Amino acid sequence: MNKIIGILGMQGAIAEHQEILLQIPHTKTRIVKTAKDLDCIDGLILPGGESTAIGKLLDYFSLKEILRQKIISGLPVFGTCAGLILLAKNIENQTNTHLETMDITVKRNGYGSQLDSFSTNLLIPTIDKNMPIPLVFIRAPYITKTDKDVQILATLDNKIIAARQKNMLVSSFHPELTCDLRFHQYFLSICLLYTSDAADEARSV
Ligand code: GLN
Repeated sequence: MNKIIGILGMQGAIAEHQEILLQIPHTKTRIVKTAKDLDCIDGLILPGGESTAIGKLLDYFSLKEILRQKIISGLPVFGTCAGLILLAKNIENQTNTHLETMDITVKRNGYGSQLDSFSTNLLIPTIDKNMPIPLVFIRAPYITKTDKDVQILATLDNKIIAARQKNMLVSSFHPELTCDLRFHQYFLSICLLYTSDAADEARSV
């Protein structure tokens, strides 16, 4: 059966994630703007963009608490860049937090300003043991602390740039801005593990 992956449609790199996902067989997408849109998805991408703006829009559309509960109940989520900041329980350089579901502390804009954006390649064995993955960092955060339940997937210069805690996957970088499907494929493998009966039922009515 097709998997339906939601992309939070508040602000940021929404179309870019959609383009990547549509290249993966048996995958459909849905832009999530309301609580109802959350009902029949198998996973949700929180795109990069501006975490303060996305956080405010989640409040404005009364989506924050329901999304938080869904994630706590096991909805697979993939937070890229600003999406990583949205999921973090702690933000080192700011008091305001957002969904607070993942046991990580992040440093917002950890690499500096827009001018310090960069790209590189890195072998991330959990994703692919053989071929490095292209990584694009744009005003990126990085993770400074993780709880014991959090699996560190990648570090660059001793900074944690990708991690997973159960149904939650995060990256400091933007896999949707490359032509590489492997990070999204890995997220889909998590969605397969966590596919909820509720999502299957909602689809069949
Ligand atoms: N610096 C942005 C923030 O703090 C994130 C940047 C991005 O998503 N590319 O929200």
